[in-house]
Amino acid sequence: MLNTTLAEKFKKIQTPFYFYDVELLKKTAQTAIAEADKYGYKIHYALKANSNHKILKILSEMGFGADCVSANEIVRAVECGFNPKHIAYAGVGKTDREINTALDLEIFTFNCESLPEIENIDRLAAEKGKIADIAIRINPNVDAHTHEYVTTGLEENKFGISEWQFSETVGKIRSLNSVNLVCLHFHVGSQIVDMEVFETLCKKVNEIQKIFESFEIRLPHLNVGGGLGIDYKNPDANSIVDFKSYFEIFNKNLNLHKGQKLHFELGRSIVAQCGSLITQVTYVKNGRQKSFVITDGGMNDLIRPALYHAYHKIENLTSAKAEKNYDIVGPICESSDCFAKNEPVNETQRGDILAIRSAGAYGEVMASQYNLRELPKAYYSNEI
Ligand SMILES: *Cc1c(COP(=O)(O)O)cnc(C)c1O
Repeated sequence: MLNTTLAEKFKKIQTPFYFYDVELLKKTAQTAIAEADKYGYKIHYALKANSNHKILKILSEMGFGADCVSANEIVRAVECGFNPKHIAYAGVGKTDREINTALDLEIFTFNCESLPEIENIDRLAAEKGKIADIAIRINPNVDAHTHEYVTTGLEENKFGISEWQFSETVGKIRSLNSVNLVCLHFHVGSQIVDMEVFETLCKKVNEIQKIFESFEIRLPHLNVGGGLGIDYKNPDANSIVDFKSYFEIFNKNLNLHKGQKLHFELGRSIVAQCGSLITQVTYVKNGRQKSFVITDGGMNDLIRPALYHAYHKIENLTSAKAEKNYDIVGPICESSDCFAKNEPVNETQRGDILAIRSAGAYGEVMASQYNLRELPKAYYSNEI
């Protein structure tokens, strides 16, 4: 996808920076919307994957709702054109200030993760004379077969309300006057590539809906979260994930009540493949056993390899020589500042431009100024 004309343009820009392929973003988003529309499903884009204004404006115009995890994300979403009525708000530690912001904007749902949170939202809504629409985030005890840091659906973690608490939770909600239960919410993890996980989730959701029916509760909405994974190894061959099969699984396996609306919260699968971290090679250091490519981008610019041992494909955009294996590392004084080990890349020399691919999600948003480094800037394919 990245060609030599682009490489020439990149040479004139201060590295490291993020580059976003706007055409691919639009194509991906259109595909997701079209496949979801077949069944009347609503997709809320998870802002935490990438909250750049330009990307958000494109996605809001295309009809996505938003999934937010902080009041600042809610405010950003509204600034970028998302309708508050289509904003879901998740998070285990919503503060009073954040809840008040969301109450003022009258969002779609507060996705509640604990009983004390529900009580607090009720109290704050009552103070404003409002009724807050809430979802219970349910911990469905489904193993997402993914990295332990991004697994959220197992019983022993901080997210959501478990089955043994349902009856108490329903009793509590019934006793409160300023919260209105409209939705059950599920989210089992991120970077899920095993589609069977979603099938298991559907079956679990069916069982849980039955439990709520036994409490005589029928809800107008169901939200099954996000987590659809992408192909980090082959970003060009699989630039758009198989949304068709993904939504088909839910259509086939999930029993919706008549008129019940199904919601999704996709982040990574919408934005990951359209972004790359572009970095220049500062030095090539030849050791005895291996060679190191030292880049001007570091773990502060893209932390996924250091934090999750995540793989990102790396391409040399300015060399046509045969491949060699390198350890590709950043300049920060930590061994974890390493983008790839023993990675085959076209033979590299000082000054070459590398693209670290599939970095559109959980890349720029997680950048820091560690070592007093500058935050990476963003450039867009339709503007350079
Ligand atoms: C992170 C998150 C998402 C998005 O996850 P992706 O893996 O990026 O699709 C959706 N819902 C909730 C509650 C989340 O925390």
